Formats: sequence, C-alpha cells, structure tokens
Amino acid sequence: MLRVSKKFFSSTASRLDTLVFLESSGSKITPASLSTVTAASQIGKPVTAVITSKDASEEASKVSGVSKVLVASGSQYSHSLAEELAPLFKDIINAQGFTHLVTPASAVGKSVLPRVGALLDVQPVSDVIKVVSDNTFVRPIYAGNALATVKSNDSVILASVRASAFAPATVDASSVPVEEFSATTPSENRTEFVSESLITSERPELGSASRVVSGGRGLKNKETFEALIEPLASKLNAAVGASRAAVDSGFCDNSLQVGQTGKIVAPELYVAIGVSGAIQHLAGMKDSKTIVAINKDPDAPIFNIADIGLVADLNEAVPELTEKL
Ligand SMILES: Cc1cc2nc3c(=O)[nH]c(=O)nc-3n(C[C@H](O)[C@H](O)[C@H](O)COP(=O)(O)OP(=O)(O)OC[C@H]3O[C@@H](n4cnc5c(N)ncnc54)[C@H](O)[C@@H]3O)c2cc1C
Repeated sequence: MLRVSKKFFSSTASRLDTLVFLESSGSKITPASLSTVTAASQIGKPVTAVITSKDASEEASKVSGVSKVLVASGSQYSHSLAEELAPLFKDIINAQGFTHLVTPASAVGKSVLPRVGALLDVQPVSDVIKVVSDNTFVRPIYAGNALATVKSNDSVILASVRASAFAPATVDASSVPVEEFSATTPSENRTEFVSESLITSERPELGSASRVVSGGRGLKNKETFEALIEPLASKLNAAVGASRAAVDSGFCDNSLQVGQTGKIVAPELYVAIGVSGAIQHLAGMKDSKTIVAINKDPDAPIFNIADIGLVADLNEAVPELTEKL
C-alpha cells in the first residue's frame, strides 16, 4: 500500500507567500502588527495580510511591504478568540497556499499560534527577534540571557515576532487589493466571549511607547508611586511601567509589569526609578536605547546596564527632575 505523509501534501511548490496577521483597534492597525510586517518582509516573499475588521482594511491596504489584504470579518472573530482564529488561519493557509504565518508575539498571537501548530502538525517558533533566512530565526531563551538560532524544517512555518526588535512598517504605500475570505471550517462555538474589562489611559501603550517611566518597590506604596511616577511620565509623554515587586505590592495594575513575565519593551528612553535591576526585570527592558536609573544603592545591578545613573533618594530626585523638565 502506498503511504503518503501529511507533510508531503502540505509542502507543494505553489506555496509561496507569507501570511501576516494584523491586529487592529477600531480602524487602526496596532504598532506591534506593523513591526510584524517588517519582520515578515525580511523572509523575502510577498506578504499577504489578514485582518478580522473591515474598518481596518483601508489602513491595512496601505502598509508598506503588504501586497494583498484578506478580510475575514465574521462576528465570531471580533474579539480575537484564539479558538475561532486558529481554524480560520488553517483554512487560509490550506486554501491559498502560504509557506509562513507570522503574528505579533502579543497575547492574541501567543494564544493562537500553538493552536494553528496543532491543527497543521507543525512546531511554531515564538518570540523571533531576528530573521536570518526564510526558515532560520533568532529567539531569546533563558529570560533573554542567551539567544538561540532556530531552523525549522516544517512545511508551513509559524512564527511570532517580538515587536520591540523590528521597526514598524510605514502606512504610506499606495493601496493594494483587498479581498474577502470566508472560512470553510464551521465555528464550533465552544468558547463564547462574555465581557472584557480594560484599563483605559490617555498615555501611550506600554508595549510600543517610545518613552517609559517605570517604578519599583523603592517607591514604597501606591500613593508615592502615583505622586512621583505619574507626573514624570506626563512631562515626558511616556507610558508608565513597573517592576513585578511594585505590581505585587499593589502600587499599580499588573498590565504595567515589565519583564520576563510582563511586557517586553524597547523604547528610546527607559527611566527606572527604585528598581533594583533583577534579571527578570532586565529581560523586559534591556534593549531600550537609553536607560536612566535612579536608585539610592550605588551597587544596584540596574546601574550595570544604565546609560545614565543617579545615586539619590527618589523622594528628592524625582520631584526635582519633574519640576526641571
Ligand atoms: C519566575 C520569575 C519571574 C519574574 N518576572 C518578573 C518580571 O517580569 N518583572 C519584574 O520586574 N520582576 C520579575 N520577577 C521578580 C524579580 O526577581 C525581582 O524580585 C523584582 O524585579 C524586584 O523588583 P524591584 O526592583 O522593584 O524591587 P527590589 O529588588 O526590592 O528593589 C527596590 C530598589 O529600590 C531601591 N530603593 C529603595 N528605596 C529607595 C529610595 N528612597 N530612593 C531610591 N532608590 C530606592 C533599592 O535600593 C532597590 O534597589 C520575577 C521573578 C521570578 C522568580
């Protein structure tokens, strides 16, 4: 009996292009998705974008590096449930023959990609920070203390991209074709969106802000955190971040946590106030362009990576800095 493996079927010569999932908020494509397009373009193949909101199709069609946009706008996709998106992506890959699916390493990307991997029987490559070739990628391991170069021999390569490692693609290209895509796999409706509770803020989004002011346990309490970190962040038009110790002590919401188990950021300016510089915190911010640290302990490890360090009591230094700015 002739046995043909599944991989043989899925690696046909017609598979040529890279599929990129663009997340959107209203009609705007998220900055992390624009960085993902940059990474996907470096794979060296034409890039097709898939979006799940019609409102974002105009902006998606102008993202430089994108040659076509697919819109899958069923109501089941409106809350980006991984249980709905995974079969959709599988359908698109099978119907249109893509070699790669690239998503941001966002909460949605991290949730959906392993499910697509299971459906296609391939192994995703997560948190890519460098594209070496169409099948070889660099990703951090051990909380960023080592870099692994990973080669995938899978017929369809799934990758999530760390947005902080790639500049966002610009949105100034002439419009490319936009097509509707209807999934053939019916929704199983086993997961239902109930509600979401979002912290709204006028500040830039932490994951993509160009300036971040972070507070640590040295702030001592929520009141001091708010009295010192917030005004400085306002002066700098910066996002607010925090160490895990600050979050665990209730100084601020856990969506502000920077580090191995929080957000990964790489802003132009990162100001760390009362943060010791534990490796788990550094894993989330050490790629920042300019790091400023204020700490009363001259031996604090944060000074090992700071470009500008101020050994001072934050209760005096921060109000003075804010006032002078
Ligand atoms: C599996 C795991 C995952 C983790 N993930 C993360 C993560 O994602 N993010 C993260 O941040 N941590 C993470 N941690 C925790 C991490 O190990 C540290 O405990 C944490 O980062 C410490 O936070 P901190 O620097 O605010 O507090 P501390 O280490 O207590 O440092 C406080 C600093 O404030 C300074 N200070 C105190 N008073 C003043 C003052 N008046 N003026 C100036 N400076 C002052 C002190 O000198 C000290 O350096 C993780 C740990 C584990 C085990």
